[in-house]
Order: sequence, then structure tokens, then C-alpha cells
Amino acid sequence: MDEIIVLDIKFKFGEVEDVIHPVILKDKANMVLIDCGYTGFLPVIEKAMEEKNLFCGDLTHVLITHQDHDHMGALYELKQKYPHIQVVVGRKESLYVSGKLKSLRLEQAEAMQSNLPEEQKSFGLAFCNILKSVRPVEADLEVQDRDVFDWCGGCTIVETPGHTPGHISVYVNQKKIMIAGDAAVLENGELAIANPQYALDLKEAEASLHKIMTYGAKEIICYHGGILIA
Ligand SMILES: [Zn+2]
Repeated sequence: MDEIIVLDIKFKFGEVEDVIHPVILKDKANMVLIDCGYTGFLPVIEKAMEEKNLFCGDLTHVLITHQDHDHMGALYELKQKYPHIQVVVGRKESLYVSGKLKSLRLEQAEAMQSNLPEEQKSFGLAFCNILKSVRPVEADLEVQDRDVFDWCGGCTIVETPGHTPGHISVYVNQKKIMIAGDAAVLENGELAIANPQYALDLKEAEASLHKIMTYGAKEIICYHGGILIA
């Protein structure tokens, strides 16, 4: 039985409560985790999966939508503990995920640091350090727009750049479900561009949000915000 399982991972950083939604695609032959949370989150992911009677050891793939710390922070830990899991990354994002090119998010955060008001500088510095702590991982499989995998009866890779240059989303063809990553967020019941002030290319991000809409999905799953039912 093909299943799409949306994890609902609630956590607290200091006083701030937040929630993220990694997604699992499960069929007879494959179990694919889409995005894996922050650095140090492997036990959190394992627990969230176990609550649904799923086990990281049974994953065949982990697909990373993009290089941000909240999506690939735990990738290194995951791959260390379960080396058989195939790491799937967009071909344009792969150089950043593997650390061959410096994280653009870190470059952006460092560039912003000098313009921050004095009272925010220590917060900005802490954020830079969080980004630096993300350990790179080599992709096993690089993918591009319209690549199709047989997961859950057929999944299409949708390149959705803007938030980062090589961001990818995944469309589950038969179920008409779009797993958007950060190409869209759900805010007050509406789709929006994730943190537009941090989009590395806002025009591209807008075009990608539009591209997502053109698929006519019945459900759009956002890593931040959860499920939009069309
Ligand atoms: Zn994110």
C-alpha cells in the first residue's frame, strides 16, 4: 500500500515553539524521507517515525529539498548511522549539500551581520554558527526537473529554485500531492513564499510558487505550515 506520511515535529528553541513537517513516501519497495530537520535531530526524527511504527533503518532514500540547516542539519548523523540510505539532492543544490561550495545562506547571513543593529549582532552571530555547524554530505543521486521515480506509483521531481538555487519539490503523480519543501509556506491557510526577505532570488521564488500551482495538486504539503487541501 502506498502511503504518504506527514510528520509533525514540534520543538522548542529557547522560548520559541516551532513545528516542521518532514514527509515519508512509503511503498512496497521504498521508503523515502523528505528532509530531516536540524543538526542533532536524528533522535527526534527516529522517535517521530517510531510513533508511526516506522523505522529509519528501513529508509531506502532521504531526499533533501535544499541545503538549509532546518532541512539537512541531521543528514550527516542519519547517513553515519544508516549508510545504506541513498541521499537524493537536486543537481544544482548538490555542490552546497556536499560542501564543495560555501553555503549561500551562510554568505547571506554573514553579509547581513555588518548591517544588524548592535543589539541583534549576537543573535546574528549565533545564527551564523548554527549554519556553520551543518556537516556536508555527498549526494548518492543527483536529480533534475521532471526526473521520475517509481516511489508510490510515480513521483516527479519539480525544480523550484528561488529560496535557494537548486531547491526541489516532489510531486506524487497518482495521489496528486505536491511536497513543496520551502518553495511554499502555509500562512493563515494561504500559500506564500517562505521568508521572502531571505529568498536568494525572489523572482525565481515567485515563479516557482506559480509553477507549483500549475500542477493542480489536491494537497500541497509545506515543511513550514503543513498541509493545504485544494
Ligand atoms: Zn525551512
